[in-house]
Amino acid sequence: MARYTGPVCRLCRREGMKLFLKGDRCYTGKCAIDRRAYAPGQHGQSRGKKPTEYGIQLREKQKVRRIYGVQEKQFRSYYDKANRQKGIVGENLLRLLERRLDNVVFQLGFATSRPEARQLVRHGHFTINGRRVDIPSFLVRVGDVVGVKEASKSSPRLKEILSSLDRTPPKWMNLDANAATGTIIALPDREDIQLPIQEHLIVEKYSR
Ligand code: SF4
Repeated sequence: MARYTGPVCRLCRREGMKLFLKGDRCYTGKCAIDRRAYAPGQHGQSRGKKPTEYGIQLREKQKVRRIYGVQEKQFRSYYDKANRQKGIVGENLLRLLERRLDNVVFQLGFATSRPEARQLVRHGHFTINGRRVDIPSFLVRVGDVVGVKEASKSSPRLKEILSSLDRTPPKWMNLDANAATGTIIALPDREDIQLPIQEHLIVEKYSR
């Protein structure tokens, strides 16, 4: 299925919560969820039918997919990988998603949203252990150092972002704001993932 290219605020309204896909705008009064907190479309404001169990599981899966900007096929392959790992499948799944390079770039504050992080990674502005990596789905490992490429530090957008770095990254990574690098010091734990996600619903959906 092709990547969704329509208005992203519709996705938040569909999921009934802020997915923070538009960077700074998400924190202002212009946020569509603050202004129109109902589903998009003709029947968005009608009460509709009570969702089925499957419908609830589906929405949870879509929500997580949209937060991380992952296509259905890729999401399924993350699930399969999580299922093969030891431990709780839902938590393994979230840990894999968190380790994506675009998410790490966002968490370090080198981008204002995950979609922006994905674009900056694609444009080759980041390195891992000194080598340029332009694959948003690249999974970081413990010890990896994610940095802004030297030549990119003077690009207008990154210059602006780096001059106002104010994000506190989760405890599994260390930010060196002066060097514009972040070191992965551990793998994420479930409690490091602050998003309101009920991952067991996704596992139930795929276990049907
Ligand atoms: Fe979602 Fe951000 Fe749009 Fe608000 S402004 S609806 S949080 S993408």
